Amino acid sequence: MTRILDPQLKSALAERLRYYNQLGIYDFYRRPPVGVPDVGEPEVNLQPEQGEPMPMRAAAVHAEEHLFESPNAEARAADPLSALKAIREDIGDCTRCVLHKQGRKQIVFGVGNPRADLMFIGEAPGADEDEQGEPFVGRAGQLLNNMIKAMGLQREDIYIANIIKCRPPGNRTPERDECETCSPFLMRQIATIQPKVIVALGAVAAKTLLAVNAPMMELRGRWYDFRGTKLAVTYHPAFLLRDPRQKKEAWKDLQRVMKELGLPIPAKGAE
Ligand code: URA
Repeated sequence: MTRILDPQLKSALAERLRYYNQLGIYDFYRRPPVGVPDVGEPEVNLQPEQGEPMPMRAAAVHAEEHLFESPNAEARAADPLSALKAIREDIGDCTRCVLHKQGRKQIVFGVGNPRADLMFIGEAPGADEDEQGEPFVGRAGQLLNNMIKAMGLQREDIYIANIIKCRPPGNRTPERDECETCSPFLMRQIATIQPKVIVALGAVAAKTLLAVNAPMMELRGRWYDFRGTKLAVTYHPAFLLRDPRQKKEAWKDLQRVMKELGLPIPAKGAE
């Protein structure tokens, strides 16, 4: 049975699917809404209007609800390095949010081991990161490197990324719409790498990933389930540079992470 969609809904759906296609997501799966029995797959007529491009490979209803449950290209890819490259290609020379015209020099994608057990997620690139195209290479990055060493690891062992991939002007806090536009790419990086543990560095990363609005004091000190992956929250290294007394607290957070990863706990913490 073909269900003819209301033209406005059809155009909104087509636009939404085009957006997902731009993100490199093509496979969608339908599920009946909660409480409605599944009566099979009605064909949805999503033929484009004349002159309207139709980039989607699969028609979908409620696609956004199941986006991250879909076995997309990278989740199927045996080789996470190629999958990460594909995500980077999908980002392209991004103009999806205002940051592309606010002085960013380059997109800062992420760096590290594509099969890392541990992933650190910060907020946004700063001036040094924007210059070098790599996350956490400035002063905060030096401290993060020390924290990684204190855990008995090397920077190359882990994967480092940010909630957004472009430097906000004057290092301002990213706007919510910038986080929402950019973070689907981060979600794909996480789905590709499949770390055992994610550490959110600071409030912006924690609040964006967990979709909660709580102070750091409440966010730290417990485990969260992030789409099946354990997630811990600790202070952002830039905050620790401003208030070094909190390093002790951050070290407690990292020790909890090390325990979870089965790493030996050295006697001395990060300096
Ligand atoms: N701060 C961040 O949150 N990320 C970086 O990459 C650098 C500084």
